[in-house]
Amino acid sequence: MPLTIAVIAHDEKKAELVEWVATHRNLLAGHRMVGTATTGSRVRAQCPDLYLETVKSGPLGGDQQIGAMIAGGEIDLLIFFPDPLTPMPHDVDVKALLRLALVYNVPCAFNRASANLITETLFSQRREA
Ligand code: PGA
Repeated sequence: MPLTIAVIAHDEKKAELVEWVATHRNLLAGHRMVGTATTGSRVRAQCPDLYLETVKSGPLGGDQQIGAMIAGGEIDLLIFFPDPLTPMPHDVDVKALLRLALVYNVPCAFNRASANLITETLFSQRREA
């Protein structure tokens, strides 16, 4: 069964997330991705072959729309690259999203290394199942 994978990147981390998706496009093909507006549109421009829906931009409520999808049980995996080198403006959004991901026990990756590990593990388990 296809997974629903949320993708969000803040500020200078967007390029890294787009590159991560492009690198893993074969694993991600056939799954549903949901991204915040700017992140999602950049992923779509780079990988038009992948299925991706967008919600609002993060500062306009997109991070919280993804949070609501987590609360509704719709998200199987959260790939979320916040930018640790920018000051606080996203702070409340990061906290709210993280809190819901913890409450609902959603697998999460917050940087490239954890995204690699989680996807390789998850997708190889699914191949074996
Ligand atoms: P964006 O939203 O992908 O639209 O930039 C993410 C964010 O910056 O919170």
